[in-house]
Amino acid sequence: MSAFRLTILTPEREFFEGEAESLVFPTVDGSYGVLPGHQPEVVILSEGALRITIDGKTREAAASDGFVTILPESVTVILQTAEWPEDIDRRRAEEARRAAEETLRQRQSQREYALAKSMLARAMVRLRVAKDVVRQ
Ligand code: ATP
Repeated sequence: MSAFRLTILTPEREFFEGEAESLVFPTVDGSYGVLPGHQPEVVILSEGALRITIDGKTREAAASDGFVTILPESVTVILQTAEWPEDIDRRRAEEARRAAEETLRQRQSQREYALAKSMLARAMVRLRVAKDVVRQ
């Protein structure tokens, strides 16, 4: 099966580096899919789940906002944060969700409101991506 080189970076680490058969990521206009040989493009990625297909198997990861540089043979994703489902601390995400909802309920500045909205979005994505992980 044909593949492209996929690199996913955050400021903290190289989250993923390897061959992938496809990548699907969220944008404000809906899901965006990349296959090998895609035309060159830079696309803004919104918070949500990345879906990466490697050797015929699809894995999900929680992603915060960032951007994706697409070339026919390589794709680079640069994000603030990324986590595999098994690395997500659900209690932390639940607490972040509650704290963000509490901030949204109070009167605050536009900036605080925007920060709380984005904190809420990150927490909801983490909870959704981690929901099927079976803990030992
Ligand atoms: P929160 O307020 O939800 O705890 P935060 O705003 O402090 O999150 P981020 O800026 O979104 O955190 O991320 C900071 C670092 O912590 C990143 O490396 C991110 O991958 C990690 N991280 C944040 N929340 C979680 C979580 N629930 N489980 C695992 N890692 C997390």
